[in-house]
Amino acid sequence: MPPPLETKLPKVGTTIFTVMSALAAEHKAVNLGQGFPDFPPPAPLVEGLSRAMAEGKNQYAPMTGIPALRQAIAAKTKRCYGRDVNSDTEITVTSGGTEAIFDAVHAVVRPGEEVIVLDPCYDCYEPAIDLAGAKAVHVPLDPRDFSVDWQRVKEAITPRTRMLMINTPHNPCGSVFSAEDMKRLAEILRPTRVLVLSDEVYEHIVFDGHRHESVLRTPELAERSFVVSSFGKTYHCTGWKIAYTIAPPALTAEFRKVHQYVTFTTFNPAQWAFAEMLDKHPEHYDGIGAFYQAKRDAFAAKLRTTKFRPLPVAGAYFQLVDYSAVSDLDDLAFSRWLTIEKGVTAIPLAPFYETPPAGQRLVRLCFAKVDATLDAGIERLRKV
Ligand code: GLN
Repeated sequence: MPPPLETKLPKVGTTIFTVMSALAAEHKAVNLGQGFPDFPPPAPLVEGLSRAMAEGKNQYAPMTGIPALRQAIAAKTKRCYGRDVNSDTEITVTSGGTEAIFDAVHAVVRPGEEVIVLDPCYDCYEPAIDLAGAKAVHVPLDPRDFSVDWQRVKEAITPRTRMLMINTPHNPCGSVFSAEDMKRLAEILRPTRVLVLSDEVYEHIVFDGHRHESVLRTPELAERSFVVSSFGKTYHCTGWKIAYTIAPPALTAEFRKVHQYVTFTTFNPAQWAFAEMLDKHPEHYDGIGAFYQAKRDAFAAKLRTTKFRPLPVAGAYFQLVDYSAVSDLDDLAFSRWLTIEKGVTAIPLAPFYETPPAGQRLVRLCFAKVDATLDAGIERLRKV
């Protein structure tokens, strides 16, 4: 018998994405749950990856990421957000956005401190905070449109608050921050010692002519922020797990102390492929918003022929749907029922909340899928 063990993460089970994907596979459901594209990455990227391996880029990359990729990220950051970032002291390549979030929290948050998260929030935030011995303070987004109530954020800040975590475009809700949001955020944080972790992994998937409001556009915010971005969403390769974090030198130095002992370094061949892709094909990330907007529009139009009501989506590749015309089950039970009985898998919102709003009947569907997949899902949803 092993010695008795008390879990460090009593609230945590297997992630809802893994649970729902396994259930989808078991019941041969159309999987619109876990967020991943079912189409391939751009051909030049795949070719670049194969070439990097054939050319022998197969040993450890530098701990911080290869210089060519960090320089390409710096150039893209300047081009997109007008900010000069130093590729040696302010950019670190990580093995996915989830690693980056864990590293950032552990680099700066101490036991007994508080970290503010805005509910619903992505499921990896709170476990990172808990393992750091800190306390997640949950401030709800407005349940009508998932906008931020900045007054409530301000009121949640205490002398123990070390970090505020934000996410735009937002997973699971598809809302985005406006320039006014960034202004309010800057005003609220100005008199405080609060750092920002800005999860911007869907930065290029923004719709209807809006621009992505990165914290990097606001110098006084950039000076206190870790900005996490990921190539998986932009380049249809979520399984490669390559991301990066931009932060001022002092924050980056602490971030790297953690990164070097979590993964040490990130998959080398893909870094060469992304460096080349960023430099040679900026049209890919420039065009990805329009690409997903067309998918959003076609999917929402077809959803309107079912009993599911699509909510507005301003960014990312998730469609929230209201199922109150179909069922009064809570979202966890409904998602299981929909998979097992109707053959379509969705993600419930409850796991993204400390306290889900009573009576909320929403689930998330991923539209990063080829038309045949989305149509197969719609055909089944029509029968519900
Ligand atoms: N980011 C993906 C989503 O929101 C899931 C990633 C994961 O499975 N951990 O669906």
